[in-house]
Parts: sequence; structure tokens; C-alpha cells
Amino acid sequence: MPHTHELFEAASRHIPGGVNSPVRAFKGVGGEPMFFKRGEGARMISESDRSYIDYVGSWGPLILGHANPKVVRAVQETAAQGLSFGTPTVLETRMADKVCDLVPSMEMIRMVNSGTEATMSAIRLARGYTGRDKIVKFEGNFHGHVDSLLVKAGSGALTFGSPSSPGVPASLAEHTLTLTYNDADGVRELFEHMGGQIAGIIVEPVAGNMNCVPPEPGFLETLREVCDAHGSVLIFDEVMTGFRVALGGAQQRYGTTPDLTCLGKVVGGGMPVGAFGGRRAIMEQLSPLGPVYQAGTLAGNPVTMAAGLATLEQIEEPGFHERLENRARELAEGLEERARAHGIAMTTNVVGGMLGIFFTEDEQVTRYHQVVNSNLDRFRLFFHGMLNRGIYLAPAPFEACFLSSAHGDAEIRETLEAADATLAELG
Ligand SMILES: *Cc1c(COP(=O)(O)O)cnc(C)c1O
Repeated sequence: MPHTHELFEAASRHIPGGVNSPVRAFKGVGGEPMFFKRGEGARMISESDRSYIDYVGSWGPLILGHANPKVVRAVQETAAQGLSFGTPTVLETRMADKVCDLVPSMEMIRMVNSGTEATMSAIRLARGYTGRDKIVKFEGNFHGHVDSLLVKAGSGALTFGSPSSPGVPASLAEHTLTLTYNDADGVRELFEHMGGQIAGIIVEPVAGNMNCVPPEPGFLETLREVCDAHGSVLIFDEVMTGFRVALGGAQQRYGTTPDLTCLGKVVGGGMPVGAFGGRRAIMEQLSPLGPVYQAGTLAGNPVTMAAGLATLEQIEEPGFHERLENRARELAEGLEERARAHGIAMTTNVVGGMLGIFFTEDEQVTRYHQVVNSNLDRFRLFFHGMLNRGIYLAPAPFEACFLSSAHGDAEIRETLEAADATLAELG
């Protein structure tokens, strides 16, 4: 049986860092990434034939768990008919109708192949529609690896952004303004100064890439208000929250309507996917109807559409999201209880099937600086203690945990037993 270390060495020969996406490396927790070969429901089997309860869910898509039988069957049956045609297919119409039905702010939609493509296209569209260049984003929010969005705050809230990665031109980054998530006053102040230059705001309506941080009451409403007042486009990046925190996404849950929405992850049921859509007047600016160019060879791929539709049809079942959230709350409360028992400062955030675990003295985490200043060493120890006991958490302290509908009583019980033993070691 191959050892993980040998597999990683072999992978690292021709793949930078041995991974095709950096979050898979164990940089945030130390050690080498594990290799998995099979998944079933809430569990994954490693290359060394050990079973783990999975709280990563492929980073969000697998809301029904691994290898959901209806999704797998839809993929198999569709693939047998041909993998791609480069022409319209009826499955694309079905997907568009389904999404626009479930997310009413999306009057039109275009499919792409990743969340990154969705956010990249949405900001191009916002810029094309408004004729403005500036984009507002929030520190700690992640929108894929789009050049314009790989930007950190300048020295003050009202200064221009600077690149957060080599390779992003400073001349592009200066069009991105970075503010503090959940700071409504900061947003108002910026728009008072420069509202007329701002093409749009892009935001994760529930932050899910600085662990899990829900919006404070009034924050999303303020974004809507300033965009209306200044003619800017409000873009909700619901790549993670779409179909996860409610059937209609965060916009339904929090009652704030964006102009454009970006989707990915769940909408592809585990196949590569992204989508963006919104108000008809804006979407009609897109090529071939309008002048804003956007295209994709495999966009709306039939196999992806089939996997996504088979997923959406199952999560439409009444009570699905309520059950998922109750399960996540049960786990969060159980974790907090055990941390208290062992004298460990910990708090959690739960939104739908998303769960954030923070080792901090703070009672509640609502800001990026709290996430960054939480006890990251303790998280690393917790991660490895859980991994040794067969629980696979996201290998980074800034990532949310995901539950699926396949996580049942047995999985929660097993996870809490592992947490109890791990926290006892940390206490
Ligand atoms: C995952 C994610 C993306 C990027 O999606 P990819 O498919 O990985 O390109 C964008 N925005 C958010 C909020 C995400 O969670």
C-alpha cells in the first residue's frame, strides 16, 4: 500500500506543491496533504484505506454528500449521450429556468466553468454597464483568483488598493477599494467621497473564506442603499452560500436583493461550474445581445448541468435546509460544550450548513481581525487531533466547515467523541 508521503513526493514532481489548488496543501496546519480515492455520503476513504468523516465536502459543492446516487446516475446517463456539443442544449434551458425560479433576483443567467469566472465576468459586466472602473470589496472576502480581486487594502480605508499577489499590475489593483467586512459606516463614508466612480460592490453575503462570519444586521441593507443612491451595481458572490444557507441563498435568508449574483459549487453538484446572473437590463449588456464580451467553450456543459439539476431537485425538498442547519447547530453546541468542559476558549458561527470554529476569548466573531487574531496554533493542534481520530476538517483556520444531508446522528456523535478526546489533550 503506498504511503501518503510517497504519493505526495510523486505528485510534487510535476505539480507545483503537489496540489492543483493551494487550499489542499496543509500549509495552514503543517504536514502533508492526504490523498483520497473514494467517497460515500459523509465519509471519504483515503489511499491508505482509512475512513474519515468529511467536513470539507470538496470545499462546498457536496451538499448531498459524496457520490449521491441520483447525481451519479444523472452524470452517467448524460455522459453516455456525449460529453459536449458546443451548441445550445435543452439541459441549459432547464438549468436557467430552475435557478431563476429559485433565486428570483436572477432574471437571466449565464453559465461558466468556475466561481472565479463568474466573479470576473460579473465585475466586467458591472464596469461595462456603469462605464466606471472602481470596484469595492471587503478584506477577508474571497472571490476566486481574479486579478482585480486579488487586492488588499491600502494604508487607509480611502486609499487605493495594492496587489496581494505578484503578477497583478498595480495599475489594475488601484481600481479596487478594500473595506472592512461588517463596517457599514466605512461603506457610507467611501461612497460619500467617490460614489460616482464606483462600478459596483462585490461581497460574500455570509463571509465563508475568513472562516464563517455572518453579516451584522443592517450591513447588507447599507450596501443596497449606497448602490441605489450612487447608481452602482451590487454583486452578491454566492458561490459558497448559494443553495446552501437557504434554498434561495443568502439574499433570501437576509432579505436583501442584489443586482447581480455569482454562483458556483452546489449548482454544479460536484462538477466544475460557475454562473452569474441578475437584472435583465444588466444581463442584456452581455454578448451576443450587448457589447460586454464573455464566452466559454465548455460553458453550460451537459454533464455539469445534469449533476447540478439532480442536486437542486433534491435540496428543494421541504425542510431540507432547516434539517441541515439543525444538524450544524447540534454539532456547534456540542463542540462548545466540550471546549468549556476542558477549559478551552472557543466560539462558533453557524449559518445553514456552514460552521465556523474559532479558538478565541471573544464571545462572538464578526470581524476579520478577530479571525486573524484567534489562536491559530490551537486550531492546528485541534485539526491534527481530529484527523488522527478520523475526522477531516478543512486544513486551514480560515476555512468554514461544511455539513451535508448525509451527516447523520452517527457522524455527529463520532465527531463529538473525537472532539472531546482532542480538546482534553489541548486543555
Ligand atoms: C470558491 C469560491 C469562489 C471561487 O470559485 P472557483 O470555482 O474555485 O473558481 C469564489 N467566491 C467564493 C465566495 C467562493 O467560496
